[in-house]
Amino acid sequence: MPFDLSPRPLNPAPVTPAMVWPNGAKSALFIGFDVDAETAWIGNNPSNVDRMVTTSHGGYDARVGISKIVSLMDELSLPATFFIPGWTALAHPAQCEAILKAGHEIGHHGYLHKLPDRDKLDEAFEEIDRGYEALQQVLGVRPIGYRAPSGENFPELLAYLSKSGMRYSSSFRDDILPYRHADHGGERGLVEIPVNFAFDDWNFGMTSRTSSRPIFGRDAVLQMWIDEFEATHAWGGVTTLVLHPQVSGRPMRWHLLRDFLMHVQSRTDVWIATGAEISDHFDALEAARAEL
Ligand SMILES: [Zn+2]
Repeated sequence: MPFDLSPRPLNPAPVTPAMVWPNGAKSALFIGFDVDAETAWIGNNPSNVDRMVTTSHGGYDARVGISKIVSLMDELSLPATFFIPGWTALAHPAQCEAILKAGHEIGHHGYLHKLPDRDKLDEAFEEIDRGYEALQQVLGVRPIGYRAPSGENFPELLAYLSKSGMRYSSSFRDDILPYRHADHGGERGLVEIPVNFAFDDWNFGMTSRTSSRPIFGRDAVLQMWIDEFEATHAWGGVTTLVLHPQVSGRPMRWHLLRDFLMHVQSRTDVWIATGAEISDHFDALEAARAEL
């Protein structure tokens, strides 16, 4: 299929007219964790499955990271959404049950963390189906929120997600407010809770032999996060975090995250909510607008 490179907005979703946050809040914080575990290392590179040291980056999730993150959320009394690949739930059921038991929202993050590819539609849809099945089997949950593994999406996948009962996505980088995706092939568009790549801890705190990159210390990242949050707050947007227990569950980064969250909590005018709560709120505003 030739690519259609004609000039047009590549995301036809309309811009959200106005956003009023609950309880007089000026902005929102959405704390999202991607519990990739080993899938981050084997999903797009299956040959890594026999490289025990490479996959041990992801193994940190189950041995240390998840429990440290859950206890941090408990200490600060914060609600979060944990996007869990189906493979992770099957491989590490006890750790995933602990997330659910602590009261957090469980989101969909594919099955084996394969990058959604429009040239492989069957594989992309199978990732969705198997992800649902695994979360149902292990946790008894059918998620309503989806974060794309490796952060990619396309129209057929958005339609498939909507048809499957998904209500929101949190992957796109093109706004600071939630918005409604345009309809796809008769399926109603999902609510998008866009992310800000500056809040993806992987960019600053993960390096490996095969994916070598500089990592940044506490002061650099904490100051950047505070500055970006404060500016987003002033603009009335949503600050969406894209965090990974195998990064932010590391000792220094755990403290860095804790300091950042306490900074946000020092403000009384931030609505800290799960993806499901933000999606519900968006739905309610949209319904109220429709009645006008
Ligand atoms: Zn991921």
